[in-house]
Amino acid sequence: MKCYECGGEMVEAVTTLHMEKDGRPLIIEDVPAKVCKQCGEEYIAGPVAEKIGKILDEELTQAKHISVPIIKWKVA
Ligand SMILES: [Zn+2]
Repeated sequence: MKCYECGGEMVEAVTTLHMEKDGRPLIIEDVPAKVCKQCGEEYIAGPVAEKIGKILDEELTQAKHISVPIIKWKVA
């Protein structure tokens, strides 16, 4: 399989996905993906993307949570 961005070689890897669900950011670790050796483009296969949806529904309540500070810009 070739990278659709640059035509480089894609290799099997795991990646960390930064996503959002219900307006809240979340991170999924160790997601299998193909990653371009040349430009770093990541490709998530259809079945993996489907499973991500399932995992989100099943695991979100028991996942470890981190809190993310949100700071508003102040005009002096
Ligand atoms: Zn590429």
